[in-house]
Amino acid sequence: MEIKTWELDRRKEELRFQYEEDLSHLVKEVDELRKISPVKVAGVAYETGGFYTVKGHLQSKAVLQCSRCLAPFDYHIEVDFTEIFIPERIETNLDQENENVHRLTSDEIDLTSLVEEIVLLEIPYAPVCQEECKGLCPVCGTNLNELQCNCDKTRIDPRLADLAKWFDQNKDSK
Ligand SMILES: [Zn+2]
Ligand SMILES: [Zn+2]
Repeated sequence: MEIKTWELDRRKEELRFQYEEDLSHLVKEVDELRKISPVKVAGVAYETGGFYTVKGHLQSKAVLQCSRCLAPFDYHIEVDFTEIFIPERIETNLDQENENVHRLTSDEIDLTSLVEEIVLLEIPYAPVCQEECKGLCPVCGTNLNELQCNCDKTRIDPRLADLAKWFDQNKDSK
């Protein structure tokens, strides 16, 4: 969805919006994202002193893949946002100092891109199904949240392997 800035210039009252944004194409672009339901977006937009403010709330349900055990889990997305759009003709460097300030290169505020950007920021880089997720056994692949196995994991756990290497490298230098 887009909002025309001339529409905001013309109005005396703020413009209210409420709609759903389908971002299901993100499933192909973000590895950790398995599913995302249409994002419910609601808010207001208005003009003050040549700047445009878009203020609102968005909400969606996603299914992410756990980065440790690879199991899918439900993830609730809910964000309040306030974003400022400044036309290019106005000289300012506010947009460089503040991530909520954007430059307008046309007479349209692109809500679709904005919503997508906000949702992407909400998806963790390495999501986990639970803080205590034990992950998969690196030897046999068993989901250690569900079952135990008898593999010798001490030699293969990459975190321990790195630590062992560090000790190896540092013992001679002392
Ligand atoms: Zn997990
Ligand atoms: Zn195992």
